[in-house]
Amino acid sequence: MSPQRARVPAPRVPTIIVHGGAGADPGQARDELREGVRTAVLEGWQVLREGGTALDGVERAVRALEDHPRFNAGRGSVLTSAGTIEMDASIMEGDRLHCGAVAAVSRIANPVTLARRVMEASGHVLLVGDGARAFAHAQGLRECDPESLVTPRQLARHQERMAAMKGTVGAVAMDRNGTVAAATSTGGLAGKLPGRVGDSALIGCGTYAESSIGGVSCTGDGEAIIRVVLARRALDYLKEADDPDHAAGVAVDLLVEEGRGQGGLILLDWRGRTGWAHSTPLMPVALMSPGLAEPRVPF
Ligand code: ASP
Repeated sequence: MSPQRARVPAPRVPTIIVHGGAGADPGQARDELREGVRTAVLEGWQVLREGGTALDGVERAVRALEDHPRFNAGRGSVLTSAGTIEMDASIMEGDRLHCGAVAAVSRIANPVTLARRVMEASGHVLLVGDGARAFAHAQGLRECDPESLVTPRQLARHQERMAAMKGTVGAVAMDRNGTVAAATSTGGLAGKLPGRVGDSALIGCGTYAESSIGGVSCTGDGEAIIRVVLARRALDYLKEADDPDHAAGVAVDLLVEEGRGQGGLILLDWRGRTGWAHSTPLMPVALMSPGLAEPRVPF
């Protein structure tokens, strides 16, 4: 039997926040990133506004970012040292702590959807590589040619071995029932060894949601994020301080000081208040709630 969690009384104000990865300032490409996170947050928002679940909202927003070639997830993912694509993704629903993840998948255009199927239909939390591929097939998810996920920009970067503009994606949402969900999706680190799995596939590291506290999606140096179990620790700070911006800031300090890495995170608390922080020059963020006529895109 699932453990009983404290439920937040309904109805609540739906809210969604998305990120497009912590990294360098992309200069002229900033407008494309703004447009990308804005469109994604509106897609997730439409789900919530129509009474849909937080889980559907974060999945929809992350799919939009996976489909956008400017972000390092789905189409546009960075390449491994072998020139291949290996993507990680995870998703979590915070009422019953249901979660699912995939790692090192290469033939799926929307890894976040496969992560959700793992959560709902496999009885497991994490599937990787060929096993994940067979499961996707059994679930009727369409395979894509991995070549179709390689954008000319990432190919050029791979060939030139340019510095990484990361660009992992994530979303956290709360629906009318007070359920919080979070999701993260990435191509990982540019030039990583084939077989490397980062934080984005690991529940508690890259993604976490518990409806009585809130939800988190992280981005940045995956090895450092794993060392400090960043997503769960951020929620612990949130529980202590009851201040999303403060919790996000303290969590990023932890990442830098104890994890010895750089990155950022977005966070949403059980009241629908958002917070975010990053130690990198830039992290595209967009958010939407009923009080706003237009998405806020504060970067
Ligand atoms: N955290 C991701 C990873 O290490 C990369 C990123 O967020 O940019 O795979």
